[in-house]
Amino acid sequence: MNLFANIELAPRDPILGLNEAYQADTRANKINLGVGVYYDEQGRIPLLKAVQKAEAEFVAAGAPHSYLPIDGIGSYDQAVQKLLFGADSFLLAEKRVVTVQSLGGTGALKLGADFVKQFLNGTDVAISNPSWENHRALFSTAGFNVRDYSYYDADTHGLNREGLFADLKALPANTLVILHGCCHNPTGVDLDTEDWEQILDIVQEKQLIPFIDIAYQGFGDSIEDDAFAVKLFAASGINFFVSSSFSKSFSLYGERVGALSLVTNSADDAQRVLSQLKRVIRTNYSNPPIYGAMLVSKVLNNPELYKLWSDELKGMRERIKSMRNQMVANLAEAKQDFSFIAKQCGMFSYSGLTADQVDKLRTDYGIYAVSTGRICVAALNTNNVKTVTDAILQVI
Ligand code: PMP
Repeated sequence: MNLFANIELAPRDPILGLNEAYQADTRANKINLGVGVYYDEQGRIPLLKAVQKAEAEFVAAGAPHSYLPIDGIGSYDQAVQKLLFGADSFLLAEKRVVTVQSLGGTGALKLGADFVKQFLNGTDVAISNPSWENHRALFSTAGFNVRDYSYYDADTHGLNREGLFADLKALPANTLVILHGCCHNPTGVDLDTEDWEQILDIVQEKQLIPFIDIAYQGFGDSIEDDAFAVKLFAASGINFFVSSSFSKSFSLYGERVGALSLVTNSADDAQRVLSQLKRVIRTNYSNPPIYGAMLVSKVLNNPELYKLWSDELKGMRERIKSMRNQMVANLAEAKQDFSFIAKQCGMFSYSGLTADQVDKLRTDYGIYAVSTGRICVAALNTNNVKTVTDAILQVI
């Protein structure tokens, strides 16, 4: 007998596949814009100073590697709540928010998906078109029927506002709606405050379940302003979910540091929700790992380290913005209008390049981007940006 004879080969993850092709490329001047990672001016993944200091403290304390509580480090969960909802939020004072530490933002999404499936009779989920490619796979694996709502307008390189609102209004009640809190992946096109207000009205009127996914807090305008949507929904008092991640904002990709937060109507609801959420966690991986969340907790709970981190994050944000401006300026010199790239925000841009153009960039110039035209602006630096824009001018 061969138990595994009929198992089909799964398709390769498109982005990880691109990375493998990049690694195998022997050209010295190759450039990888396909990644979802922030690189510094030297092309390295940064180790933040605030993280280094927290690490030194952690090691010096010589703490044992015991088990964490099922919902993670308490001081971490509370710091996450303050970062998302604001320290003065009435929801926090009323103990209406449940927050559990999770295995990155992905883990938070999966916990949320399992909870909605098991306890709220969730059957349908709507994601933006396009969205982070794992949204569809994750929710369909969790047993959801996955729909799209209109989002990106290829003609304007901006938001398809009418399509977005019309599609949200047409969703059946109880549909889970995944909303990118800021720095939309993959397009870089964000909602403005009026868009968010309108979406809040729609989800209330149509009784949809909002799930704000915020994986890039601090990469848009500021740590505080990037949480605008979370704070707006919180102020309305409705029930909603938030998945958040420190992978990018702390450059802690491999430590898997995220959180799931649920906004409930009362401290009593929160207690019951937490008890069930703990069972979801317990039956999957028992309890989360210590290291990354301990570092984040140390930084967020120490004013000096917090300031250091927030300055470092500002540096990353501003470097990305200057790369956007540099790209636009280089292309404008050749009379090509890519000004939309400077209006988009976060680590990614839908560059408007076609799949054929992306192919040509790779084969002729060793520049790797996703076939949809998504480029990681955070992988540009002053040494490679001109090479990239020169190549773009050749392929368009
Ligand atoms: N949501 C979005 C929109 C993302 O882009 C990502 C990561 N690229 C995640 C969630 C997952 O984050 P993490 O790596 O922390 O699991």
